[in-house]
Amino acid sequence: MSDEKALRELICEVGRRLWQLGMVAANDGNISVRLDEETVLCTPSGVSKGFMLPDIMAKLTVDGEVLGDAEASSEVAMHLEAYRVRADVNAVVHAHPPLATGYAISGRPLPVNILAETVTAFREVPVAECATPGTQEVVTAVRPHLAKHDAILLMNHGALTLGADLEQAYFRMEILEHFAKTALAVVQLGSAQEIPPEQLEQLYALRRKLGYEH
Ligand SMILES: [Zn+2]
Repeated sequence: MSDEKALRELICEVGRRLWQLGMVAANDGNISVRLDEETVLCTPSGVSKGFMLPDIMAKLTVDGEVLGDAEASSEVAMHLEAYRVRADVNAVVHAHPPLATGYAISGRPLPVNILAETVTAFREVPVAECATPGTQEVVTAVRPHLAKHDAILLMNHGALTLGADLEQAYFRMEILEHFAKTALAVVQLGSAQEIPPEQLEQLYALRRKLGYEH
């Protein structure tokens, strides 16, 4: 993995982008990266993601043992579970993007099959069961979805995205929220054309080629 200083700075940069785009409010959200097989950097609890400095990050093992002075976000457990389940995942982003979260609350599935980019990026976006943020319940709720999905909606809560690196995990959060915005426009317009099955198959083939099928 790339050097720790650069990763700490990138976490701050991604936090700024999440905050500027309104995907987190106040101290919402958390970001983590894998430093090596054993060690993870994570945003600390109780800070705005828009105004972080590189030296405030918490460091811990993938099994949750704290290695520094900083206390990791209360939601770090679901990040660590992602690293344990997926050897290909090196970064995790959790945010509360309003429109994607709206879908997670509405009980309506995100209609992924109306946009090629979303089919390519996600194929489908599952909704993890309602769980109290910061508890082990959240880990139990996301666990069934981690193996096969890079974007998961958390019912009555927010969204979780995974990536081979932090840019990818972050971009997946952007793609998810941008798509939720488009999907909501489609709802307001009152009709939708789904991508035909043969084109869906081509997009699934593209996913396999890009290494996005798990
Ligand atoms: Zn949250």
